[in-house]
Amino acid sequence: MERFDAEFWSEADRPPRAEVLRRVADKEAIICLLTEKIDDELLAAAPRLRMVANVAVGYDNIDLGACTRRGVAVSNTPGVLDETTADLAWALLMAVARRLIEGDALARSGQWTRWNLDQLCGTDVWGKTLGILGFGRIGSAVARRARGFGMRIIYNNRSRASRELEQQVGAEFLERDQVLSQADFVSLHVPLMPETRGMIGAREFGLMKPTAFLINTARGPVVDEVALIAALESRKIAGAALDVYEREPLIPDGLRRPNVVLEPHIGSASIETRTKMAAMAAENVIAFFGGRRPPNILNPTVWKS
Ligand code: NAP
Repeated sequence: MERFDAEFWSEADRPPRAEVLRRVADKEAIICLLTEKIDDELLAAAPRLRMVANVAVGYDNIDLGACTRRGVAVSNTPGVLDETTADLAWALLMAVARRLIEGDALARSGQWTRWNLDQLCGTDVWGKTLGILGFGRIGSAVARRARGFGMRIIYNNRSRASRELEQQVGAEFLERDQVLSQADFVSLHVPLMPETRGMIGAREFGLMKPTAFLINTARGPVVDEVALIAALESRKIAGAALDVYEREPLIPDGLRRPNVVLEPHIGSASIETRTKMAAMAAENVIAFFGGRRPPNILNPTVWKS
């Protein structure tokens, strides 16, 4: 605020699109959340725009090509949310395996009248096989958690990780289909892009074990939600734990089942991490307008030119 004339959206609801388009008309920079679509329409409405700083590591809400064509620099917030998001993936995995949400509901309901040998029996986590699709910062952080549970860790990534990282984490590279067919838990950590949209669909659920669980803390459209509901209904898989959805904040009724844990996109939602993400976005803007290369620039050609 000392160096910039800034306008801040302080309402609890996200700003309506028309309001965003109106307000960007005279702005040189936007610090935005993943709820704001930065596309050709918005860029056309913001002729003075020079920088967009996304307060998220995933930037599928931004048309990076369109920004680059118009010479608008774009930054994101990699690295500061890895452990927090991996913690949530792990919490989801534990919750769905050990039926924590069902247990909580029973304990609160006043209907818990007795202990029983077969009450709320879930699935063991320790000693099982964890399959990771997308072995980047967050995927490998989830793998490190699995080591403490004595799990076998298998992964697939666009490019194979270094031997050093594989050894450090104890992870084995396999083809995607092998990961899907061997894992007891499949955890998704790929970015959303054309190649990963609908990456997990009917065919992939068909490969998974009927006892396996899907964990998604990546992006909703990586999974074909209709196929997921069908796989749950036909018991092709044992359950799912989800933080993200195809059309947020819409959650289809077909996902509201006891063997599905649902969270409202809170992967990076700790006070510490959200504070770091916001500061990182601001630092990128400050660097840009101070004539320094934004540390997390996604289209460096814009900076060079
Ligand atoms: P990252 O370090 O870039 O890791 C992504 C990994 O996915 C990379 O290793 C990449 O491979 C790999 N990949 C890309 N396309 C692939 C494909 N088609 N098949 C297999 N692997 C592929 O990103 P990150 O920081 O871990 O974040 C991952 C994603 O998590 C973000 O993009 C975001 O959408 C999501 N996220 C969600 C939350 C939440 O709140 N739920 C929070 C943070 C992040 P290469 O090594 O070859 O590039």
